[in-house]
Amino acid sequence: MQFKKIWQFRLILLCFIACNVCFNATSALNAQSSKIEKLKIELAETSTDTAQMKLIYRIAYSLRTSQPIEALEYAENGLEIANQHGGLKYLGAFNYVKGRIQKRLGRFDESFESFEKALVFYRKKGKDKKNLKRIADVLNAVGNLNISRGELGDAKIRFKESLNIAQNLKDSILIAVNYNDIGITHFNAGKYALASEFYLKAVAIRETIGHTQGLMLSYNNLGVLNKQFNKLNVAMDYYKKGLNLAIEKNDQFRIITSYNNIGSIYREKGKYDKALEYLYLGLDRAKLMEAKSNIAQFLFAIGVTYDEQNDSQNAIKYLSESLALYTEINEKVGQAKSCSKLGVAYVNQGDFETGITYLRRGKEYSLNSSYYFGLQDLLDNLSFAYASLGDYQNAYQYKREHQELNDSLVSAQAQQTVLELQQEYEDEVKTREKMQQIARLNAQKALKETQTKYLWISLGILIVSMLMLGFLLLRTQLMNTQLNSQNNIIEEKNESLKETNIQLNKAKELAEAAAKAKEDFLSTMSHEIRTPMNAVIGMTNILIDESPRKDQIANLKTLEFSANNLLNLINDILDFSKIEAGKIVIEKVEFDLKELVQNLISTLNVTTRKKGIDLKLLFESNNLKRTIIGDPTRITQIISNLVSNAIKFTEEGYVKLICQVREAKDGKVNIYFAVEDTGIGIPEDRQKAIFESFTQASSNTTRKFGGTGLGLAITKRLVELQGGEIKVDSTLGVGSTFYCNLDFELGKSLSEAQAEKELVPISRGGLSGVRVLIAEDNKINQIVAKKILAKWDVEIAIANDGLEAVQLIEKQDFDIILMDINMPNMDGCEATIAIRAMKDPKKAAIPIIALTA
Ligand code: ADP
Repeated sequence: MQFKKIWQFRLILLCFIACNVCFNATSALNAQSSKIEKLKIELAETSTDTAQMKLIYRIAYSLRTSQPIEALEYAENGLEIANQHGGLKYLGAFNYVKGRIQKRLGRFDESFESFEKALVFYRKKGKDKKNLKRIADVLNAVGNLNISRGELGDAKIRFKESLNIAQNLKDSILIAVNYNDIGITHFNAGKYALASEFYLKAVAIRETIGHTQGLMLSYNNLGVLNKQFNKLNVAMDYYKKGLNLAIEKNDQFRIITSYNNIGSIYREKGKYDKALEYLYLGLDRAKLMEAKSNIAQFLFAIGVTYDEQNDSQNAIKYLSESLALYTEINEKVGQAKSCSKLGVAYVNQGDFETGITYLRRGKEYSLNSSYYFGLQDLLDNLSFAYASLGDYQNAYQYKREHQELNDSLVSAQAQQTVLELQQEYEDEVKTREKMQQIARLNAQKALKETQTKYLWISLGILIVSMLMLGFLLLRTQLMNTQLNSQNNIIEEKNESLKETNIQLNKAKELAEAAAKAKEDFLSTMSHEIRTPMNAVIGMTNILIDESPRKDQIANLKTLEFSANNLLNLINDILDFSKIEAGKIVIEKVEFDLKELVQNLISTLNVTTRKKGIDLKLLFESNNLKRTIIGDPTRITQIISNLVSNAIKFTEEGYVKLICQVREAKDGKVNIYFAVEDTGIGIPEDRQKAIFESFTQASSNTTRKFGGTGLGLAITKRLVELQGGEIKVDSTLGVGSTFYCNLDFELGKSLSEAQAEKELVPISRGGLSGVRVLIAEDNKINQIVAKKILAKWDVEIAIANDGLEAVQLIEKQDFDIILMDINMPNMDGCEATIAIRAMKDPKKAAIPIIALTA
């Protein structure tokens, strides 16, 4: 009876809407409240229990959306009367309406209990049509409660039960309700194609019968679905359609749901002010209604909006409030979402530890509520947070979990779709078989009767087949839509993986850039220090040469020693940083090894003679009279490092350099280099360490002998760059031998090389009168160069940069040019190109020597 009256009331209201073009929300509100007032007056005047219960039920049901608290009071009162006097029908009805109000108020556990009771009473009551309809209503309500609690499987079972009853009763409204709600379970499970199919089934029925209340829901759901596919404008249209209907109906809950949805679309579009405007409106209304679930929803949405605006502080404030409220009403999905977003907000704020705590809580809630899509984001965020903390093990673990979950979801979904399709196919085959059977029977009957009838039946079969063909085509299309939606999901996941890779690459690039900046700094600084150091050494040498007073000599010697030491250190650092940066390229030049080592030994001999030790050279060419192809500069550096060390650490006895050609064939030669000394030796346990940078054999080495511990590290790298390996044999107190083998390609015969050399014109006696142009921008370097060259009686001209050099050469003749590389206006390389391009062939061929500190 109650239902019938309510539907009658709705019908009247519908007619009213149709007749009044200017109908608006206020008048609806007035109509509704005056109707309730009337009911209340009627109630006051009634005395019988049944009449009272009838009225109370109508009041509670009418108030349930606009004033749920008051409605609940009426329902409880009604239940009290029913408990004392009423039959099963009212016991069921009051529990049902109570359950619905409790659900709206977010009191899920209580709501569940009320529905259970309602079902018990209704089932006891019997199986008449009206009662079956009531059972179907409760089943649907329980399904909706299941959805709120994240129990999608249970929800679907209830909806299908309810749908079955509704179909038997041919109750269009209830059929549409269940279609719609099954759509919601599909949507929540991420099966969008199925969701869309069920939503549209519901809309079709609702539009046909003009069911406003239901249409509001449908529009809302279609809005959500379109939003999911990023069709924001379509979604907004649906939401606004829904809002208009809700205002017309004065359905407060639908109004605030619409506010929430419209707000979320604005947020999606990046119009945050508009979004917040709608969300705060909704929040205020929800608070007025004391609807906790909705309040929590708005707090959450506002928090997310602030988070997207990078306002972490406000985001955290609102998300914490929403979490507290969701926890209070035990809404697991809400808790999962709030924790997840709260975690992200903390991560965005740089507080990774708190972020991780929330994300992990969120993970637990997600697992409890089967909120799998939320879980995916969450795992991703956890992985990111751990990676930001440098905890790559956990980061990797969560990334893997994320991937595994993704894979299982995609395959579970695929499996589910296959099962559903299979079921549909089987149903369809059965129908087809049945229809064919009927057709066959008809055909036989018709044959027996008349030929004409047979013709008609055949035609019928044809039509049926065409219909089936059409159905099959439709089904294929549906399958395609489903597959497409799956592909979309997979593509999205791929995108997110790609994004992660991009982020990792960016981090790698940053790290590389930092390393490069460090190397650049080191090499630039070393170079910049080298220039003035050279001036210090140059000037000291000049002072020593310019017959200083006796008492000054010792000081100048100390200055010279310290400056040389410092320069060596700088040279080593520069060399080392260049090697570490991989900037050293081993050259391939033809040279005479014997000549090189002989020159080297005669230079180093000056020091050994001073120390009173012998410097010996053992060169065994094994009759190989060829040049070799390699990098003479780096060979010189290796040998001089080793020999200098040997001299440094040897007080008596000798230092011997050994070069032996060991094997020569196929245009290649293997040469053994060794430096042997009778010095202090190296303890066995330090023989490996000394090749590391900044490492010496013992802690007092620097004090006694100076040095930095870089020489051997450089030597080792240089040997390795040429494909060899350096080793040491040493006995403490007896001496050391450093040795290595290097391969070289063979060059020309020595006699040919010698002949080529002799073609080089030899300068006229000494340097006296040679005209030298120095292109150098550094004033001190100019002075040093001038002073040194002046001693050899040469004619000197100075150019302050490349441009001046070119201009001077055009005006005057020079025999040689000493060219600095880095100069303002025109650098050494550009100047050299300009000189080489000069018209006068003599000028274009002037020898140019690069000059550097
Ligand atoms: P530095 O000589 O500047 O300290 P090196 O890298 O050239 O740096 O050498 C590292 C250490 O190896 C030296 O400090 C010294 O302790 C040890 N060492 C190197 N060559 C010899 C040698 N010929 N005899 C004894 N000790 C040596």
